[in-house]
Formats: sequence, structure tokens, C-alpha cells
Amino acid sequence: MAVPKRKVTPVRQGNRRSHLALKEKQLVECKQCHQLTLPHRACTVCGSYNGRVVLDIEGKTQRKAEKAQKAKEQQ
Ligand SMILES: [Zn+2]
Repeated sequence: MAVPKRKVTPVRQGNRRSHLALKEKQLVECKQCHQLTLPHRACTVCGSYNGRVVLDIEGKTQRKAEKAQKAKEQQ
């Protein structure tokens, strides 16, 4: 079995990890509701992308509320 010849020193380990830092998320302003949102994604607040609505945000929250109420009634 292959075994490392010597242990990795703290400096070498630090040098290797110097490239592992996470980058801050880049956010863009939604053209419809002017909220900050991820680029190249539909807006999670109003559900629009490229000037038109592509997600049914209201319906989704409504269905979620109905589901929660149903679960509450079953208890
Ligand atoms: Zn929006």
C-alpha cells in the first residue's frame, strides 16, 4: 500500500487551502420588483425572468398554506 513519505506541514496545508475561500454571492436587481436576486435565475419574490412572469409564486404560497393547514387538521 502506498504511504505518504512525510506529513504535510502546516504551511503546505495552508498554502493548499489558500484557494478554497468562498466567493461572495453576486446579486442583481430584479427588473420587475427591484429586489436583489441571483443572476440568470427567475426572481424568487415576483417569479419573473427577462421581463415576463415564469413562476406561479402566489399559487405556490397558497398551496403551501393549504398543505400546512391540512397537516394541522390531521393532528
Ligand atoms: Zn422580482
